Amino acid sequence: MTCNECQKLIPEYLNNQLNKKELEAFISHVRSCPVCYEELETYFIIALATRVLDESAEVSYDIKDMLEQDLDDKEKTLNKKKRRFILLLAMILLFLILDLILTFHLLGNF
Ligand SMILES: [Zn+2]
Repeated sequence: MTCNECQKLIPEYLNNQLNKKELEAFISHVRSCPVCYEELETYFIIALATRVLDESAEVSYDIKDMLEQDLDDKEKTLNKKKRRFILLLAMILLFLILDLILTFHLLGNF
């Protein structure tokens, strides 16, 4: 499997849409290729952040229907989720910066 083929399969991998043969080839390539591994890691974190964002939206919706006495507790949960989301955003930024540094580093070598 080439890097190009591998990176095209990343979204399908994250959605569990690869068949057994594709999955085996995909994992074996990612394990031996740092470039594709990093690409997968970036997509993985973005997928994770999107999921956390969706969950936060559901929590906000629930709060509207919540009883007064539950508001305080749920607010605490929401703040925790917000902090987790901010952490994920920070991680994404870090990865983008690392990606840029790596790209510049590779370009410098050519
Ligand atoms: Zn590769």
